[in-house]
Parts: sequence; C-alpha cells; structure tokens
Amino acid sequence: MASALLELHGVSRAYRSAAGEVVVLKDVSLRIDAGEFIAIIGPSGSGKSTLMNILGCLDRPTAGSYRVNGVATEQMLPDELARLRREHFGFIFQRYNLMENLSATENVALPAVYAGVDEARRTLRAQALLETLGLGERSTNRPSQLSGGQQQRVSIARSLMNGGAIVLADEPTGALDHASGQQVMAELKRLHEQGHTVIVVTHDASIAAHAGRVIEIADGRVVADRGDQCAAPDTGVAHASRIPTQPAERGARLDGLREAARMALRSMLAHRLRTLLTMLGIIIGVAAVVTVVALGKGAQAQVESQINELGASTLEIFPGADFGDPRSAEIETLVVGDADHLAALSYVDSVSPNLGGSVAAQQGNRRANTQVLGVGADLPRVRGLRLKAGRFFTDAEVDAHRAVGVVDQKAATALFSGNPIGSTVLLGGMPVEVIGVVAASALTSGATPTVYVPYTSAASRLLGSQRLESITVRVRDDVPTTAAEASLAAELQRRHGGRDFFIYNADQIRKAVMNSSRTMAALVSAIAAVALVVGGVGVMNIMLVSVKERVREIGVRLAVGARQRDILRQFLIEAVLICLSGGVLGVALAFSVGVLSSVLSLGVPLLFSPAPVLVALACSSAIGLGFGYFPARSAAQLDPIQALASE
Ligand code: ADP
Ligand code: MG
Repeated sequence: MASALLELHGVSRAYRSAAGEVVVLKDVSLRIDAGEFIAIIGPSGSGKSTLMNILGCLDRPTAGSYRVNGVATEQMLPDELARLRREHFGFIFQRYNLMENLSATENVALPAVYAGVDEARRTLRAQALLETLGLGERSTNRPSQLSGGQQQRVSIARSLMNGGAIVLADEPTGALDHASGQQVMAELKRLHEQGHTVIVVTHDASIAAHAGRVIEIADGRVVADRGDQCAAPDTGVAHASRIPTQPAERGARLDGLREAARMALRSMLAHRLRTLLTMLGIIIGVAAVVTVVALGKGAQAQVESQINELGASTLEIFPGADFGDPRSAEIETLVVGDADHLAALSYVDSVSPNLGGSVAAQQGNRRANTQVLGVGADLPRVRGLRLKAGRFFTDAEVDAHRAVGVVDQKAATALFSGNPIGSTVLLGGMPVEVIGVVAASALTSGATPTVYVPYTSAASRLLGSQRLESITVRVRDDVPTTAAEASLAAELQRRHGGRDFFIYNADQIRKAVMNSSRTMAALVSAIAAVALVVGGVGVMNIMLVSVKERVREIGVRLAVGARQRDILRQFLIEAVLICLSGGVLGVALAFSVGVLSSVLSLGVPLLFSPAPVLVALACSSAIGLGFGYFPARSAAQLDPIQALASE
C-alpha cells in the first residue's frame, strides 16, 4: 500500500507546567490520504488545535512519529519544517492572522516571498486568487478596512498562495456571523472539489456534515473516526502533486533583501518619532566625527598655506634650552646686537628682533589689554605678514625710536570705532600713532589684541629692557635651511661663548600645530566612539522592544513558511537601516555645520572629504549589524506556536 499523505503514529503532546507534566494529546494514530475532507470535532480544550498544529508542522509531538508524504518529521531542523509549511500546507486561523500594515494582495503574496517568487509573478497570482474569492475590488485594502468574512477569505487566498495542497483550518468560522461562515465553508468545499486535502476544526455540526470524514476528539484521544477514509484518492493525488513549487531563482536572494528592506522601512515609518530618537546617539556620534575631521583638515590646510606663504626658510631663535626652560628669563645674552650681526650674514635674507609684553591700551574712552610686540622693520618680510591698510614702519623709524604702531584686526576692533590709521593710542603712558593694520592670519594672530611697534621704542620707552624674546631669521630662498640653521647656531654660539639658545624652524612649527590638532581629533573621536556605542545600545534596546511587539507577526511569518534566517535578516536589516539613516543624518548635520560656519565666517573652514564620510557610514552600518544581531537572533529563534499564541 502506498504511503499516506499524512500519518500519525502513537503521537502524544505534553506540556511542562508548574503543576507537572500535562498531556494534552494522548497516543493519537491517524492516516490521512490525499483529497480527503476531514472535520475534527470535540469539546473545547480537548486538544484539537494541538493536533492541527502538529499536522501543520508548527508544533512537534513529544512522543510518537509523524510522517508527511512518507518522510518522518521528528529529526527535521526548524528550517526543514518551515519548508514543509511553505510548500505543502496552507493555514487558516480563527482570527485570520493577517498583517495589519500590508494590503490584502501583499498579505496573500507573503508565503511566495519566502518561496523566492519574484514580485511581479507573486502579485499577479495573489490578485488572481483574490479575484476567485470575490475580493478583486479589495486587493489594496488593509485588513482593518475589510469585514471579518472578507479577512477570512484573504487568509484562504494566502493559504493557497504556494499551492496549499493541504489546507488546515482551525475553527475558520468561529469569529464570523452565520452568512460569512457559510461563504467560507463554501470556499473550503470548493477547494476540496478542486483536489485539495482539507482539514477543518469546527464546533458546527452542520459544517461537519459536509465533510467526508469526521474525527472526534475528547480529552486528547481520538474517540470516533467516521466516514469514507478513501475519498476520491485518484483525483486527490493528481491534484496534490500539482504544487507550484518555485525553485530558488538567481534574483530571488536580491528580491528577498529588497522585500526585507521594504518591511523594515514600513516599521520605521510606523514609529517615526521613536526611530528618530533611537538614531540620536548615532547622529551625534557621526556628526561629531565628520565635523572634527573636517575641522582638522581645514585647520591643517590653513596652516599649510600660511607656512608655504612664509616659506620653509624661516627660523626662530629663542633663549634657553627649549620652551619652558626656567633659566630663559635670566639669560640676557640674546640681544639686538645678535640680530644686527645675523642680518649681515650673506645667507640671511632678513631679520627681526622680537620683544614684547602685556600693556594696557587706551584710545578715547576705549580700553583694552594688548600684547605689544617690539619688532624690526623687516617683520612683514620675515613672517610673511600682510597689511590690510596703511604701511609698516621703516628702518629709519626703528632707528629713531619713533612712537608709531601697526595694529592687528583684534586690536583695531577693540580700540577703534572707525579707521584707526592716523589716530593715536596710549600704550602704557606712551602715545603711539597708528600707521597700519595687518590682515588677519591664523599663524600670526592670537587671542589677544596685538600692536606692533619698533623694537627700539618698545625696549627704551615701554618695557625698559633690552632683552629679546626671540630673533626671527629668514634665510635666503636659494640656501638650504638645515645648512643655514647649523651655520647660524655656530655663529651665535661663538658670540655667546656657549649654547644658551635654541632654534625652531617652520617644519617644527608645522609639526607642533599638526600634533595639537591630531590630539584634539583623537579626543573628539574617543567621545564620538562612546556616543556611537551608546547609540548602538539604544538601537539594540529598541530592536528588542520591536521584536517583543511583533512576536505575533513573526509567528505568522513562520507559519507561512519563513525560515529562521528570513526573520533574522529582516530584523538585522531594520537595525542596519536605522543606524545607516542615523549616519546619513549625522553626515548631513556635519555638512550643515560646515555651511553655517562658512556663512558666519567662523575663521577655520571645514574641509570635507569622502573617506571620513564613507568610514562613518560603514561604522554606523557595522553598529547596526553588531547591536541588531542579538535582538534579530532572539526573533529568529521564536517558537512558531508560542509566537502565534502571543497577544
Ligand atoms: P482545543 O483547540 O481543542 O480547544 P487545545 O489544543 O488548544 O484545545 O488545548 C488542549 C489543552 O492543552 C488545553 O487544556 C490547554 O489548556 C492545553 N494547552 C494548550 N497550549 C498549552 C501550553 N502552551 N502550555 C500548557 N498547556 C497548554
Ligand atoms: Mg482550539
């Protein structure tokens, strides 16, 4: 004798509870052939649903064996059971179990998504099925826009989507009025006539009367099995084998990904505010990193261009062994004479002796604390300083100890309301005539307002000290800087009778600036990393909530044949999409900060480059994958029955 379509042998199902083991299905043996129409009846709580769930491979027996088409299911992996549900069974539930955010057509087409049928084909078939069930007009409606009877017919269409050779209906008319119930039963009868094997659980004796075979269950046991057990086996077998199984196609994988992404987008849009708040950590982290990197790059470019402008051939000589040398205040050896001597050397282009101090300045009723720098007439050439207005003082004015001054941008705005040139400013007690204004430059302008005066006047009339703070030397462009530096050092060492000074070149200055900007970038990146991790934890938290909220949805997906990896992929994609959107918003935020800073001309320009943006987006995707994995896996490992039973 050929093997039965479905065969239960000594099947039991027990639940473990606090009170011990409860056996709800006891030693059930049944043989069901293709093409049968079976009604299962019995009192509430007798185990009908439990039996149906085992027949439909949603649940497993705790003892006994269950064969589908002669193949034992006991050793099957969850995904193999999912394949049986997908390819052989069609489930119809008492409470429809349609997905609220999908249209009727999309609900019907859902099993085909997991069977790997492309979108055009599955939509066509779903619409044709709805047509035959009299719902052609309702295909775009959401379940909430349909009556109970219509929803149940949508769920019948869904059960047929992948063929539905065996239709399992658990009290399909239980929630319907009499007329709708009759209509649903008529559909089930029609399916049986077309060759489907139909198994219905029902309380309704009149419905049971339609069935060719009635199995009665009481207290977990089959107590009666009446009817023709060999109903129309030939037509049945013929039809049951006509399952339009879809071999996995090439494009199916991509299509599945697109479908999962669409589901994820829908659920994100359904909780817009929540999604946005979840993204906040990611947005802030990404925006911070991208902004700081752009800021660092901007500052670097600015310093670079100024150093290039000034030429790599500028050397700065300071007293002492290095910055911070405690003896440097006592060293009196670096004097104007040194500067004059160096200026006379053949490989030196120009020299400026520098001294300075903090001086209170007054102009009219405006006061400001200024930094007064006593420098030589060659300073603009030595330092690459540019004048915005007026002129710099000359050698003659330096030699004559003239009280003339050039102000920087900060001093000009702090001390003068209009054009400062020609006005007189009081520096300490000394009246100084302003003859020029220097253009702003990140290298030369610090935080304090600055006034440049001849070093002679500063030394004799303002600071009362001949001691220089430094000498700036510009080496001729055609002389190698390192050779010039060595020669300068030897020259000064001879004059001083020892090495009581140190020399800084432009390269070292550049390095110092880069170092500080790199330290800052590292610091902000560390803060951003913390923000990203916190953001990731936020995403994980929301994904866990999302999985909890959608347990029933997951149950339905599993019931129509979704594999564990389909569920895993759906939730992972959602987590990645949330994080990636956060990353994109973060980048957009950083760009708007850049636009804002250039509109407000905040000094340092932001220089965006593609690499940090791409890295930031890759990082946020990785965070989505990393922090989304645990929630997604917990969703994928849900038990179909428990998931469907959840409210
Ligand atoms: P029916 O569908 O015939 O009304 P069920 O198959 O749903 O009955 O349930 C049969 C028995 O199994 C009931 O007594 C019910 O309380 C019990 N049962 C069902 N599911 C569980 C479960 N998850 N844990 C413990 N007992 C359960
Ligand atoms: Mg039940």
